[in-house]
Amino acid sequence: MAVDASQLAPGWLTVPADPAALERKLWAEDVSRGSDGVLEIDGVRVEDLAREFGTPLYVVSETDFRARAAGFRDAFNEAFGALCGGVDVFYAGKSFLCSEVAHWVSEEGLGLDTCSGGELAVALRAGLPGHRLGLHGNNKSAAEITRAIDAGLGRIVADSLSEVAMVGDLAVERGRTANVMLRLTPGVHAETHEFIATAHEDQKFGMSLATDPDTADDDGASPAAQAVAAALRHPGINLLGVHCHIGSQIFEPEGFELAARRLLGFLAEVRDRHGVELPELDLGGGYGIAYTEADTPRPPREIAQAMAGVVGTTCTALNLRVPRISIEPGRAIVGPTTFTLYTAGTTKVVQVDSGAAPRTSDPVTHPRRYVSVDGGMSDNARPVLYGADYSAVLASRLPTAEPVLSRVVGKHCESGDIVVRDVYLPGDTTAGDLLAVPGTGAYCWSLSSNYNYIPRPPVVAVAGGRARLIVRGETEDDLLARDVPRSPVSPSPSSGAERTA
Ligand SMILES: *Cc1c(COP(=O)(O)O)cnc(C)c1O
Repeated sequence: MAVDASQLAPGWLTVPADPAALERKLWAEDVSRGSDGVLEIDGVRVEDLAREFGTPLYVVSETDFRARAAGFRDAFNEAFGALCGGVDVFYAGKSFLCSEVAHWVSEEGLGLDTCSGGELAVALRAGLPGHRLGLHGNNKSAAEITRAIDAGLGRIVADSLSEVAMVGDLAVERGRTANVMLRLTPGVHAETHEFIATAHEDQKFGMSLATDPDTADDDGASPAAQAVAAALRHPGINLLGVHCHIGSQIFEPEGFELAARRLLGFLAEVRDRHGVELPELDLGGGYGIAYTEADTPRPPREIAQAMAGVVGTTCTALNLRVPRISIEPGRAIVGPTTFTLYTAGTTKVVQVDSGAAPRTSDPVTHPRRYVSVDGGMSDNARPVLYGADYSAVLASRLPTAEPVLSRVVGKHCESGDIVVRDVYLPGDTTAGDLLAVPGTGAYCWSLSSNYNYIPRPPVVAVAGGRARLIVRGETEDDLLARDVPRSPVSPSPSSGAERTA
């Protein structure tokens, strides 16, 4: 019997025809369901993972990670090979970074972008050579910049005019030259969440291309043009080129293409004014992935070919040598490689007024089932931060009851602590069942917190039919480690007298 869609469900959510089926685009390639219904990854069963490592647990497919990294590398090298000899892919470490992942990135021939001293420390611990690393950030400290200069970083992406001077001066002080790119804002407002659109004017990142009278200098030069002049002049700076990153979780090609055209136009202006063709152009990351059935990401090959077309024709029109291109995908490499495994606990059903009935009659209510899990906003802040949607499946057995509209919630003391806002789960999903939430590889572990003194979960990597720990979970001792206890009180009643003696 087919189940009707709930009146409370969003329009994009469909009732699964086969509740045991996996929506392929949400999962790592090597995730499947065994004949007994248990989810497995590369043959490793989730009930074994839960037994060995506990829940919540981030489970990352190393094979899938490497394949996606190589997929971007190959697609862009193929598309741009004839134009500029190839593309440098820098994995955006902030999406998820530990030293093991840094090794994968490096072994697949990618560079690695960091945006803090801490991320840089992880990359250096993994032994990555400085020339394969980048440093971002809109407010880098002198210590971070100095560390980057000393490590011989491939590129320090200066975010402001004052940072250009700071990087140059620190390089001179260290007796070195810093490789610098300039982060520019081409005035593109990407269609994504307000907090992750990063190239329009009214946000904190980068230097504007606009020649607004209030930000232009006496010669009418934009902040971007002023930065180029300052960087070319500075003895401590080797100016590689310009950079933009228009935002994250973007599906439409138009924003990327517009940004590329504007930056190439700017490179032509630099050539006309200074007589130099800057050798590099970084087009950032931001490629969207599927979190639910409603998302349809474009394959890297399609993205690369479209971008190469735009870069090629624009350079021809401007009579500009095609600069060496680099890109910085984070989410699109690591996001789909990972699922979070939770254990279900408390469940309840509430009756919700859908608001569909006329005001004058009795409200018509519909059921919504709540399933609580043993994690939540501390291991995945994206629903709270961005209203992000996810999906979930029953992972430890075959579904035996009809799917019902459910909401997966965490164990934190906030009603906003939602893991999956809307999903159809079997109506008999109950305490002790394992649930798996796909697409949690990017910006989940890296944004995790200890809210409510809940320890951060471990991360296991699966490859070759084996699971191994790559980030250990926190313990109660970790949670208490920075708490400063009162020093033990001396038992002597005369201690006060002793102090005055
Ligand atoms: C975050 C970030 C990226 C990666 O964005 P994704 O959406 O994860 O691909 C790339 N470049 C810069 C400068 C960033 O800040």
